[in-house]
Amino acid sequence: MRNFGLVTVTGQDREGVWRRARRSREVWQQVATQAGIPIVNRGLWLAARRAESAALLEAFLRSDMADGCSLLTPAAARRQCRHLDTSGLEAVLLSPHELRVESREAIPKLAEWLARDHGVAFRWATAVHAAEPPRLETSRGPVAAAAVAVCPGDDLTTLYPQRLAKAGVSRCSLQMLRLESPGFALPGTVMSDLSLLRYGGFAGLPESRALRRRLQAEQGEHLRHGVHLIVAQGPDGSLVVGDSHHYDAAAAPFADERVYALILEEYSAVVGRPPPAVRERWLGSYATAKAGAVLIDAPTPRVRLVVVTSGIGASTGFAIGEETIEDLFG
Ligand SMILES: Cc1cc2nc3c(=O)[nH]c(=O)nc-3n(C[C@H](O)[C@H](O)[C@H](O)COP(=O)(O)OP(=O)(O)OC[C@H]3O[C@@H](n4cnc5c(N)ncnc54)[C@H](O)[C@@H]3O)c2cc1C
Repeated sequence: MRNFGLVTVTGQDREGVWRRARRSREVWQQVATQAGIPIVNRGLWLAARRAESAALLEAFLRSDMADGCSLLTPAAARRQCRHLDTSGLEAVLLSPHELRVESREAIPKLAEWLARDHGVAFRWATAVHAAEPPRLETSRGPVAAAAVAVCPGDDLTTLYPQRLAKAGVSRCSLQMLRLESPGFALPGTVMSDLSLLRYGGFAGLPESRALRRRLQAEQGEHLRHGVHLIVAQGPDGSLVVGDSHHYDAAAAPFADERVYALILEEYSAVVGRPPPAVRERWLGSYATAKAGAVLIDAPTPRVRLVVVTSGIGASTGFAIGEETIEDLFG
């Protein structure tokens, strides 16, 4: 609910993520239609302000992962969207693959649809204390279960805490905000140079080394706070903007104004005008692990412990869900 609602495909790590993101995007398209969830935005506009970023994007364009994407010159970018400042740009990567939903309305609609059309029984406000097929122990009594998929998100202490600790699962906290409408439509979800170091499909290319050196010299504080730019527009024109990344399982619940200033500084540099008024601020938290993008563990033959450990569950969750069900039920 606290996330951008962005199904990101382009730039995802080839290893274990890109395929799942493409499959999940397909499922989102079908599910959104059936569940009445509006796709509020499509596509990605990655604005590169540095020659090193443009070189990295050119290398990316030569790979099969850039299928359907194009690299625009600043003049071509200007023709596509006159509202964003293209004067300081080297290039824009345009991807048609991304989808965006408003998570706050999409998640309740998803649950309603699953209950109404597929007979899924939700037990809200119920804590599971133990997953031991053929039963679950919950705060509202036992529940029969032939098999169990445990997906605890960033709750690392209730179920299988030792297994999660052994797999090196920790927490990442993020600062986010919603800005009032800027008064124009974005050409897709907007990202910038800093994003090229956060997504494995870009950051894994050798050309990222020169960009990292330059960003360390010019935006070291952004990198220290894990700040990169995502600007995602809602149907009312408002903008969900983020984010930062602080890695600490026991992070304090306090949001740092300096971090918001860094995010908004990058916003102004990319959009070319001051940010609209802030409507909301919030902190989010997700599970993270150095070992990989997702943990799929089998504590017992009929239990799977499944955790997205890279903050991209909205982009990959449907594919991971299909694989988990296939694994448990064949
Ligand atoms: C600020 C932010 C922005 C993000 N933006 C994006 C984005 O744009 N695109 C993207 O792809 N991903 C994004 N993500 C990541 C994405 O939201 C997560 O990867 C995704 O929500 C993980 O889904 P999940 O169902 O596994 O876990 P969660 O969404 O964390 O849900 C787990 C649920 O299980 C419940 N639970 C845990 N333990 C128990 C228990 N013992 N008993 C009962 N209930 C329990 C929790 O209360 C929670 O409701 C973002 C994350 C954050 C925090």
